[in-house]
Amino acid sequence: MNREYSIAVLAGDGIGPEVMREALRVLDAVETKYGFGTQREERPVGGAGIEACGKALPDDTLKACESADAILFGSVGGPQWDSLPPDERPERAALLPLRKHFDLYANLRPGVCLRELTEASPLKNQLIEGGIDILCIRELTGGMYFGEPKFYGERNGELIALDTMIYHRREIERIAHIAFQAAQERSGRLCSVDKANVLSSSVLWRKVFTELAGQYPKVQLTHMYVDNAAMQLVRNPQQFDVLVTENTFGDILTDEMAMVCGSLGTLPSASLGARGERTFGLYEPSGGSAPDIAGKGIANPIAQILSLAMLLRFSLREIAAADAVEHAVRSVISDGFRTKDLATGAANERIVTTAEMGEAIAAAI
Ligand code: NAD
Repeated sequence: MNREYSIAVLAGDGIGPEVMREALRVLDAVETKYGFGTQREERPVGGAGIEACGKALPDDTLKACESADAILFGSVGGPQWDSLPPDERPERAALLPLRKHFDLYANLRPGVCLRELTEASPLKNQLIEGGIDILCIRELTGGMYFGEPKFYGERNGELIALDTMIYHRREIERIAHIAFQAAQERSGRLCSVDKANVLSSSVLWRKVFTELAGQYPKVQLTHMYVDNAAMQLVRNPQQFDVLVTENTFGDILTDEMAMVCGSLGTLPSASLGARGERTFGLYEPSGGSAPDIAGKGIANPIAQILSLAMLLRFSLREIAAADAVEHAVRSVISDGFRTKDLATGAANERIVTTAEMGEAIAAAI
């Protein structure tokens, strides 16, 4: 079997290039250990794309993604580009088109807070004792972010704005299958989050999930309104195993979940779609470009490194290498290595820079 792969590497802006450097260092280590190879096509995206080519998603960057087995993405955006019109800004003009172009409809976000890091969570210790391990699945290409019509402008002398929240049955069905299968492989508990007491799109969402539940007898499906889910995530996060929800609700709940877990700097994400036999995906940290800490060497590279682990697992099917990366991260955390965002002042902590964290994880492999 050919174990040579091609990866489009889009580091982007802010801390993106700093944390990407460490992910590639870890990739070097697992390639050597597990005997496979990658061709890495590094291309500008976001603000870097605007500066280099006048576009947040340059044509050549898109072409590199099209011929790759997977995309390893950093993050985009920053204050330099905030004054651009909304549809030219890095996030909207780079990430959303990439999701749409490759039909990356399933966003998987593990919310894991290791036992050693519970002090970094803002929640009281008794609520997260023993750690947290939730998988949040967010529908990523439907709903309000893509729904038409959209409008911002003047009508009858008054400014108005319009977004459309729309779901087709097939869009709900395909994300539901992903969620049921994920729940089946974990504890068998699946909580679907909607707003079926108010929104028609949620009524359809709930109907489709309820109908498909019969195909997965081992999964216990529950439903929860999104406002309650937001509350329950901080009241009793350990009640959840797999959460699934639509695009906008997922955007908000996954950031809340990230904070419950301690730091945005540790949480990866995978945005998956199908391409032939293979799972194609874009893998990126849950956080943004963190301009407040960019260039200081203090960003936490773990989210980027765990995003690489997801890429190895889902797109390259290099399972042993993915396990090794996740194991190395856990062992370095157990040894007390912490970037500044994870520091709590505990006695065994060793505060390290972005590069030192990357080196320690690569060495643990
Ligand atoms: P952010 O996630 O960049 O930062 C929020 C807070 O978390 C900051 O205090 C930051 O320092 C911290 N943080 C984030 N990642 C960290 C890491 N790896 N290590 C340590 N601390 C980390 O969100 P924001 O401040 O709202 O947005 C900043 C920019 O990022 C904006 O331009 C926004 O549009 C963009 N953004 C991009 C993406 C993406 O590329 N997918 C996602 C969200 C925000």
